[in-house]
Amino acid sequence: MRRFFLLLCCTILVAGWSLTASADEPAVKALRFGKLVDGKGKTLQDAIVIVRGDRISDVTADASKIPASAEVIDLRRYTAIPGLIDVHTHITYYWDQSSKVHPFDQVGSPRLPAVSVFLAQENARRTLEAGVTTVRDLGAGDWDDTAMRDLINRGAMMGPRMFVAGYGIYVSDSPPRPGYIAPPGGRADTLSDVMRVIREEVAAGVDVIKMYASTGTDKDVSGFQTYTFEEIKAAADLAHKYGKRLAVHSYGPDGARDAVRAGADSIEHATDMDDATIAEMARRGTYYVPTIDHNRWYAEHITIFGWDDEKHIADGLNDYIRRNLETARRAFKAGVRFAMGSDALFTMCGENTRELGWFVKAGMSPEQALATTTTNAAALLGKEKELGAIVPGYLADIVAVEGDPLANVNVTINNVRWVMKGGTVVADKTNTRPAK
Ligand SMILES: [Zn+2]
Repeated sequence: MRRFFLLLCCTILVAGWSLTASADEPAVKALRFGKLVDGKGKTLQDAIVIVRGDRISDVTADASKIPASAEVIDLRRYTAIPGLIDVHTHITYYWDQSSKVHPFDQVGSPRLPAVSVFLAQENARRTLEAGVTTVRDLGAGDWDDTAMRDLINRGAMMGPRMFVAGYGIYVSDSPPRPGYIAPPGGRADTLSDVMRVIREEVAAGVDVIKMYASTGTDKDVSGFQTYTFEEIKAAADLAHKYGKRLAVHSYGPDGARDAVRAGADSIEHATDMDDATIAEMARRGTYYVPTIDHNRWYAEHITIFGWDDEKHIADGLNDYIRRNLETARRAFKAGVRFAMGSDALFTMCGENTRELGWFVKAGMSPEQALATTTTNAAALLGKEKELGAIVPGYLADIVAVEGDPLANVNVTINNVRWVMKGGTVVADKTNTRPAK
């Protein structure tokens, strides 16, 4: 009996030891690509990326460097690009198409936060399938975004890595949407309210502060300034004190002009910016996130919202797109740094990278457009040492596309075939060929 007990102890000990040993050694994968675009200006033929756990440990063309223990994934038909980053989403806004209720009326009460987060998994899946492995989510109700971020980070939910803003900060006479009774979460009508709300957001665990410094959203393309320079300056200073960046929504030029000078880190949307403001953005390194494509999506889906006078609204959206593109063209020419933000919500999730097509129309090469959703976007997040490139030490966020992404921007937009996020394969369409 005693002998059996000893044997049992030894067995448990050995089993325990071998379990610990395997847990210490992360899984090794060797990814083979026909070509690799590393995001730092280098390309490599017959590239091999060695991934250990969630990080890239080596990038080489030398097949003898593949460890014997590695799981080899053959993607030699494809080109590798870094996992893409969308710096402006609203991924928790889910549209249940089985309901007759218009999409915006489905958001928030009476839908429970837990239901919103659960349903948003579909938006998350579509986002990953577009090659977007990281998002900066700029506005959600009920802290749906912080919950979703945390569930994804702990592996309980599949989705892009999220950096979240919680409630956008807005004035009560111009809430995020006209006619919408917003919960008090982000409402701030005085300078001291702005300070209080930022402190509450930080306490709730947001990664970035979002402030609405003008009117304008969905069908409303007006851009009247809502916060003063002093209020935006207070927001920027306090956000920075907490180590957070400030993203300022401004549809028109006035809010943008003050936001740039107040020290905002990124300007969202802004059309018709004057030359002096554009020059100041270039000088300060303020990011421009024009979100041109989101109005294309609204114009294409105009019938689902139940808006009156659709023709008039479509004209307004298309006029806004034209001015937005023109502003982007001028800003790019002036040397302003761009980051790609789609403003994706509802079924636009998954169409995130269509914004890159507008960037090429604004004068960028496909390579410059790619940088807006890789290295530039990573720098705007403050994650330029971990995200946005395929180099050793970085998180293993890698996308396989079919074709040459440096020759044609549509390769990045339409030809994503395989996606890895943090060393895990999260989308794989390598075996599904389009129907002839
Ligand atoms: Zn937005």
